[in-house]
Amino acid sequence: MSTIRRPLIAGNWKMNGLKKDATKLASNLAKRMININKLKLDIVVCPPSPLLGLVENALKGSGVKIGSQDNSYAKSGAYTGDTSPLLLKNIGCSFAIVGHSERRTIHGEDDKIVKAKAESAIDAGMIAIVCVGETLKQRKAGRAILTNRKQLLGSLPKQATAKNTVIAYEPVWAIGTGEVATPAQTQEIHASIRAELVKAIGEKEAFKIRILYGGSMNPHNAKELISLPDVDGGLIGGASLMASDFWAITEAAI
Ligand code: PEP
Repeated sequence: MSTIRRPLIAGNWKMNGLKKDATKLASNLAKRMININKLKLDIVVCPPSPLLGLVENALKGSGVKIGSQDNSYAKSGAYTGDTSPLLLKNIGCSFAIVGHSERRTIHGEDDKIVKAKAESAIDAGMIAIVCVGETLKQRKAGRAILTNRKQLLGSLPKQATAKNTVIAYEPVWAIGTGEVATPAQTQEIHASIRAELVKAIGEKEAFKIRILYGGSMNPHNAKELISLPDVDGGLIGGASLMASDFWAITEAAI
């Protein structure tokens, strides 16, 4: 964690919860995070999209922001089932996760689509959280750095700056598995991502851009990971569904 960059803790609720669960979780978060505006960090939760309005309402006054888990690359029109980034921004989203490994794997989204979605989210006024990460097979083959480099360069929005883009390094083998990357593995990839960003968007922006770690982060391992020099916060799945765990992770970034 560097003092130059404002930490970001993002909760990805994935496809979990009904109205009553979301209300309970968001209200619990709001109670814990009443004074976060005084803290020097950003906190965002990304619930399933039909629950965004309800969650925003329950979080009012807490300073916790809301974000989407996916958005269309198009602004509007004949895209049945997709969600416009303009609408997401319109209903209160400040952040937009794009290219999560579950979208890449289950929905076959490639770098080109992820890049288009990120650009569209930024054009709509949101901050894109662009996810990258290698599989276990790629890591075992010694291709972790290479894979992340390729995904990063293929998915990076053309207008990327430290203000409109966040990168999330999420090793696929660590997502939802309870297996977490070691501090050495994490710092190595984060540093290599930042080095690539220097080449892609220039040193000034690359040193200001936030790079999150995601993959089985929990209250026990958060401090060690977030303290690493090139880690600027976390993208948290499972542990973001418990207000006490999510808050404990947030405290690790304060
Ligand atoms: C995620 O879905 O982005 C994630 C990191 O999940 P988990 O924390 O459950 O591994």
